[in-house]
Parts: sequence; C-alpha cells; structure tokens
Amino acid sequence: MLPLPKTKIVCTIGPSSWIPEVMKQLIENGMTVARVNGAFASVDEMKKIASVVRSLSNEIALMIDIKGHEVRLNKFEKDFDVKAGDTVVFGNDDSEYIYVSTFPDLYKSLRPGINLLVDDGNTSLIVEKIENKKIYAKVIYGNKIPKGKSLNVPGIFLDNPPITERDMEQIRYAVEDKWDFVAASFVRCKADVDAVKYLLKGTHTKVISKIEDSFGVQNIDEIIEASEGIMVARGDLAVEIPFAKVPHVQKEIIKKCNKAVKPVIVATQMLESMIKNPRPTRAEISDIANAIYDGADAVMLSGESTTGDYPVECVKVMKSVALETERYLYHSQDHFLKKTVQDCSVLDEGTEIAMAVAQSVANLSFKMPDAKIIVDTRTGFSAKLISSYNIQNTVIAMTPYDYYARRLAMVKGIKGISRSNYTDIKNMYELEKLLIEDAKNKKLIQHGDRIILMISSSYNFESDSQINEKSSIKIVTI
Ligand code: PGA
Ligand code: MN
Repeated sequence: MLPLPKTKIVCTIGPSSWIPEVMKQLIENGMTVARVNGAFASVDEMKKIASVVRSLSNEIALMIDIKGHEVRLNKFEKDFDVKAGDTVVFGNDDSEYIYVSTFPDLYKSLRPGINLLVDDGNTSLIVEKIENKKIYAKVIYGNKIPKGKSLNVPGIFLDNPPITERDMEQIRYAVEDKWDFVAASFVRCKADVDAVKYLLKGTHTKVISKIEDSFGVQNIDEIIEASEGIMVARGDLAVEIPFAKVPHVQKEIIKKCNKAVKPVIVATQMLESMIKNPRPTRAEISDIANAIYDGADAVMLSGESTTGDYPVECVKVMKSVALETERYLYHSQDHFLKKTVQDCSVLDEGTEIAMAVAQSVANLSFKMPDAKIIVDTRTGFSAKLISSYNIQNTVIAMTPYDYYARRLAMVKGIKGISRSNYTDIKNMYELEKLLIEDAKNKKLIQHGDRIILMISSSYNFESDSQINEKSSIKIVTI
C-alpha cells in the first residue's frame, strides 16, 4: 500500500464517482469521507452511494450535506437574460415564473435597498419594492438569472427554518442507515446546531457545521463548541462576506478548531479547473498546500468529484500535494512545549490528565520519529489529543466501536481502526498482546517495528479487581 497523507480527503459523490471502480480508486488514493450534497441527491441516491461505499470499505465515513437556510430559485424553463438597469420580479409560488422555491416567504425578510446576489454573486440586484408578496429588484450587474441557482442575501438574518422538509427526510434516512455525519449548511449560531442535534439525539450521527455567512463567522466560538466539526464553506462565504476577507477568516476558524481539538474541513473550488482539465492550476496547488499549512484536518472536492471529468486524478493531486506539504509541517519540540492544557476547550480534571498523558506520548514520538503509535481508545479523544501536537507519526487509534473509528476519518493524522471487542481480559499484559496481534493482522505494524503503545480506556481486569488501571504508556519492539 502506498503511503497516504495525514490530511483527510472529503469527496462529494455523484455520477462521476459512484461507479464502484472509480470509488475504489478514490479510496485507495486517500478519500476518507464520502459526502452527498442534499441539494441534488435524493434519498434513493443516498442509498445507492452508501451501498457502493460500504461494499468497498467499512472505514469510510458517510456525510449528508443538508441545505438548511440555503435559498434557491426554482428550476424555471431556461436561464433568464437580464442587463444592468432591468427590473426582475421574484414571485412567491410556483404559478409564477421566477420564485424562490426553498423559501417562498423570502419577501417578508426583505426591504427596499437590500442587495440580492444570484449564481455565486455573478448577478447582483437591489430590492426596489415589495408588493403583493412579490419582490421587485433592479439588476446592478450580471447578465443572467439562471434556473435552480442559489440566492444570497448578504448580512440579512433570514427568517427561514434551519431544517426543511427535504432535509428532514434526508436526516431520517441517514440516522436509520447509521450515517456518520450531517453537514448543516449556513449555520449561524448555536441554536442552528442544536436544531439538527435534536433530531440526532441518541444516535451516533454527528453535526459538522458549515460556516458560510457573516453570522456564522461572528458566532464561531459557540458553534465550534456545539459541533463535532466545522467546514469552511468558501463557496457561499465568499458571496456573503467580502471575498477578500475569506483567506483570513479561513485561518482564524482553523486556528480556533485546532485549539478546541475539533476537526475542520476546507471546502470549495480547491481543484475547480480539474472539472474539465487533467492537471491543476498553480493557484490550486498552492491553495491546497496553504490550507494544510493553516492546519486544516481535511480538504474537500465538490463538483470536481460529482460531475467532473477527472475525479480520481483530483484525489491523486490532493494526495501528492498533502504528502509533500506535510514534510514541512512538523512543529519543532519548541512549539510543542508551548502548547498547554489551556489550549483545550474542555477543562475538567479528566481532560487535563488525558492531555498530560497525550503530551507524554507526543513527546516520546519526537524522540522516536520512526516508532508507530498505537492508542487503545473508546471514543478516539486520546488519539485526537496526541495528534493535536502535530507530530510526525500517524496515530493508529483502535476502538471496539466502528462508529467512533469512522468519526476519525475527518481528523488529521489518525487512522481509526475498529477492533474486536475483547472480553475476559485477565491483565494489562494480555490486553497489550491482543492489541498488537490485532494491529499485526490488519497489517498496520510488522515484525521489527518499534511501538509506542498507549492504553487509554479503563479496564477492570478479571484476575485483579483491586487494581483499576486507567492508562499506560509502553515502548515495545515486536
Ligand atoms: P455547498 O457548500 O457546496 O453545499 O454550497 C459549500 C460552500 O458553500 O462552499
Ligand atoms: Mn454553500
């Protein structure tokens, strides 16, 4: 097996990539999360994608991207030609030519003077008046109102629900079929995250919040705290806020996520030109590398892998840029020593101890750059803490729960492995032996390897019930 980068790759799946042979190559080249865009995919397509992914691997996480507050025009017959100075009328039901299909009540949130942007901001309009539930808007620039495209209203806190009927249907299926993540679009505050979490209560499906407007940027701290992870959704973000601000916002969000030990994805147009071309532009290569330098856990493909001509080549480009960039990423021990427990958002006693233990493992790995790190963990949190020190070695996290293992598919530097659930273990020695055997069978380690083995779960061993061993770190050569 060729080396895979520590950076994770999220591929949006569609007609170009749901062919099993293509999907197999995406996985072999580093795709760890399969994303389905709920704006286009039906529940039947979700089923099809899940079955193709699972027939190839049980380690790939499945993520449905629900559209939430996203506003879209209906699919009227053909694109509507306009020019600067024209007045366009947006109706509010399907008897009218142009209407806002996902939010017919949009007119209630608008007033004269508000800016509307259509089709990624390529057409800009100003609301002139609202009359009989219709929006009259004057074209400032642009020459088209394309059908089915999204519509942005920068700076306006729209009064539409965070979850639509369509979202609900997709969430219901995702939960029933045990998908790993729901990516929620246009998350503006904690309440938006909570609305999705409410529907996921008692399940192992977790929320990734997409930051795509000024409200999400403003309320980033409470959103990070409430979410499993974050996506910097640059497509809409660059329409909702001045695009020149996006690179800085990307860096700030990534920094905050790194501190909170939450995974963060950088998304949209990373390899846009490769929808049609077999090789990337120089700017795209730099963009991927810079996202990794910023500290992103994952990079994402959208149109490139749904309908593009070169899905496999795109993943190969991401892989090679990531592998090369990661060579220069490892922080010196100097930086490492500056990181303190205060960097972690959750600060109970257990976490502080876990951080100190993780720090010891990270410190050991600086002395033994060739050693493999194996962590026995329940939720994967200890592995995340170790990896947060940006060490050179990939952390192999072994957990008996396949859903916790898959959740690590989003986290940089960790290979989540679902192991057997050992029963009746007599002592620590026996547990260590089982873990090493398991890792050997899965070809993660081999004879002669030096291993830093960390046990972070709590066990009550059969033979010695007085001693409840909580954690141990051991250096072994097998
Ligand atoms: P989308 O989200 O592709 O679902 O719109 C990502 C983005 O806006 O960047
Ligand atoms: Mn978006």
